[in-house]
Amino acid sequence: MSAEIIDGKEISAYIKQQAADRAKACAAAGRAPCLAVILVGDDPASQVYVRNKHRACEACGVTSLQYALPADTTQEALLALIGKLNADDAVDGILCQLPLPEHLDETAVTDAVAPEKDVDGFHPVNVGKMLSGKDCFLPCTPAGVIEMLKYKKIPIAGKHAVVIGRSNIVGKPAAALLLRENATVTVCHSRTANLPEIVKTADIVVAAVGRPGFVTADMLKPGCAVIDVGINRLPDGSLAGDVDFAAAKEIAGFITPVPGGVGPMTIAMLMMNTVKSAEKRSGKGDF
Ligand code: NDP
Repeated sequence: MSAEIIDGKEISAYIKQQAADRAKACAAAGRAPCLAVILVGDDPASQVYVRNKHRACEACGVTSLQYALPADTTQEALLALIGKLNADDAVDGILCQLPLPEHLDETAVTDAVAPEKDVDGFHPVNVGKMLSGKDCFLPCTPAGVIEMLKYKKIPIAGKHAVVIGRSNIVGKPAAALLLRENATVTVCHSRTANLPEIVKTADIVVAAVGRPGFVTADMLKPGCAVIDVGINRLPDGSLAGDVDFAAAKEIAGFITPVPGGVGPMTIAMLMMNTVKSAEKRSGKGDF
């Protein structure tokens, strides 16, 4: 039997509608939520991501401030802009589109964003809070993964979740959030021995590797849920995930497509984080 498709467009529309309703309430109470997005340089993929974020802001009633800086922007100039936005009471969320040009220090830039405006959830304060189970901004892509599972009522507690990939922006936080939802979590990476055997025992597979077709159907336990975070550009220009979708959907119980799976969730969660920040900063609501 073919797997049920987890439709990221549908679920992200649902989240964005909630964000829009709450943004409207913020606006009615005084000021719409405001997101500042900084783009350094002219990386085409980053330009697309920033444009999509701007469009999502417009659709959700979130004010979007865009700062397009030249590729040769100095570290000092970038940090000065972040400092200015940190101090600006009208700004609720700040994000600097990654990757940055090589001469800039990504860690220093991430750390410079005030934790209470860090809607990407990358600041060490928010990472620490996430790991210790405190309220904080959750990183958008992994938070989107959890939302997808919950929306489809896929049980997490007590299940074996296998995360493939251990990056700071996807793999590690995805594992932390699955643990927080009481899954039994295994994290696989490039040094993992017997990866296919481990994945075969998973009720939930989260693939965040960055290699097209890495997860093959024979690695999957029948009926499992497969969340494909990977976004890979193929030589013909099309996009593919990390999972061999056509074959995997014949074995899995649930599966996300690429495109149209996790991708749209990331921006929806960013909108929600921005709205939550506005609510929190105006003294209303919590995370
Ligand atoms: P990274 O390159 O930072 O991390 C990839 C991870 O995969 C690493 O932990 C690496 O292990 C592991 N890996 C690589 N090769 C193997 C292998 N042969 N066997 C096992 N593990 C392996 O990537 P990201 O986490 O940033 O992104 C992963 C994918 O998700 C990419 O395709 C990216 O485009 C996509 N992505 C999608 C987003 C969305 O919105 N949907 C958002 C962010 C990313 P090791 O640590 O040992 O090197």
